[in-house]
Amino acid sequence: MTGNETLKRMADLLRQGAILLDVQCPNCNTPLFRLSDGKMYCSACQKHVVRGVNEVTKTAQNSVVNSLNQTIFNKLDELNSMIGNEKDQEKITVLLNNLVKLLEASERIRHLKEM
Ligand SMILES: [Zn+2]
Repeated sequence: MTGNETLKRMADLLRQGAILLDVQCPNCNTPLFRLSDGKMYCSACQKHVVRGVNEVTKTAQNSVVNSLNQTIFNKLDELNSMIGNEKDQEKITVLLNNLVKLLEASERIRHLKEM
């Protein structure tokens, strides 16, 4: 099999309405296609890819979720010391409101992770 044949097959798939995905084949790292029937297809291996794609998506999701959690945790830490140092009651109220929002966001992210 030559690279040209793979390219030709890719072009054919695109003409048939397949969508080039931002996901690579777990076997050969060629970008996968989503066919019009919703299945993943590797144009180089010439077979459907069932395993791997969901894991790839899940891993990407988890890394976003983990990064968000880390950001929120850092902000909570910052707010905690800001509230501790703040004497102005009005500013403390603003800080506490921010704290509540961060906790709400954190709660939503937790649900996202359970999806
Ligand atoms: Zn492949």
